[in-house]
Amino acid sequence: MSFDPASIREDFPILASEVNGRPLVYLDNAATSQTPRQVLDASRHYYEAVNANIHRGTHHLARAATAAHEEARQAVARHLNAASSDEVIFTSGTTDGINLVANILGGELGAGDEVLISTLEHHSNIVPWQMLCERSGASLKVIPCHDDGTLDLDAFHQLLGGRTRVLALTWISNAFGTVNPVAEMTAAAKRAGARVLIDAAQAVPHLPVDVQALGADFLAFSGHKVYAPTGIGVLWGRREVLDELPPWRGGGEMIKEVRFEGTTYNDLPFKYEAGTPNIEGAIALAAALAWADAIGLDTIHRHEEQLLARAADALSGIAGVRLYGPRRRAGALSFAIEGVHHYDLGTLIDQMGVAVRTGHHCCQPLMARFGVTGTTRASVACYNTAEEIDTLASCVEKAAMMLK
Ligand code: PLP
Repeated sequence: MSFDPASIREDFPILASEVNGRPLVYLDNAATSQTPRQVLDASRHYYEAVNANIHRGTHHLARAATAAHEEARQAVARHLNAASSDEVIFTSGTTDGINLVANILGGELGAGDEVLISTLEHHSNIVPWQMLCERSGASLKVIPCHDDGTLDLDAFHQLLGGRTRVLALTWISNAFGTVNPVAEMTAAAKRAGARVLIDAAQAVPHLPVDVQALGADFLAFSGHKVYAPTGIGVLWGRREVLDELPPWRGGGEMIKEVRFEGTTYNDLPFKYEAGTPNIEGAIALAAALAWADAIGLDTIHRHEEQLLARAADALSGIAGVRLYGPRRRAGALSFAIEGVHHYDLGTLIDQMGVAVRTGHHCCQPLMARFGVTGTTRASVACYNTAEEIDTLASCVEKAAMMLK
């Protein structure tokens, strides 16, 4: 039996909205997914019944908030199959997690060392490494991609070598939906002695993730792309790696003892969580992951794959449409129409109630590789329906005729 999204759409009040008198068709999930009532309830319950600062308080609410926050950490660890919840660092999102890693690895890199990324990366997984290279004298190397939007794995193996200190790779391209063979690439990079960070911003919403099976050192994702609020995310890091690396931000909670003569740092995970964290966000993230797990990430993945295949078939039947990325996609599908600017297309179909994203998708180097300034991107979540995909296709067809 295939999964029926109608069964869960009622969990999302926002999906019943109308835009310009038409039912909203929300296909901008790669930017931000919508939030189910169960997660909103968890946030509300936190502020109505639990709210207090965590870890240091002796009073009832402080203890309750601390317990709820640490239960959320354990829930995230279970979702990722982490060996320990101490490996789960709460961040404000993927960008924050990658910047954390790029900063704590700083001391390991120098002139002659190399950081390897790919053409498919989001700016969040490019710029922090460029900044690290500027500071350390290391060089940035880039794995090229083929015309179908898959990575050139021969080039990857050639680029990987004794100088590669870091491989920072997206699991799924937010622009094209390409699913990279991250386990295989991680294994090769580990054999070469590199640290490996996986940008899982687009993977955690669409696939089951098992960090122990993956074998990387770090994995970052954002709550707001996986049915949780904005401002919360996770950096998972392998304990033995994080234990030996220095802290980054200094402040409350990340210390054991502070003296003017010097400070000793806290153990994991608190060593990397300076200051008051987003307590409600962590609790809501755990609720969102539980909500998604109740459906099952395998089920979500299969349903979304069917939606994207349907979108690819329908859109490719429209005159002048070019699809980007391989046939097997996850999460997102990018396309362009000859003679039509993506911005005009996005604006026109928004008037028909269809929300897609247009532009460079924070992947300017990828757009440059394909000789475009941007594309139109439809990105799905488990609550999207086949009917919505058909509406997308018919609106794109209408808009294209109007704009040509
Ligand atoms: N990496 C990828 C692949 C993304 O899709 C995004 C957001 O679109 C990010 C990183 C950055 O995520 P955030 O803005 O939540 O930090």
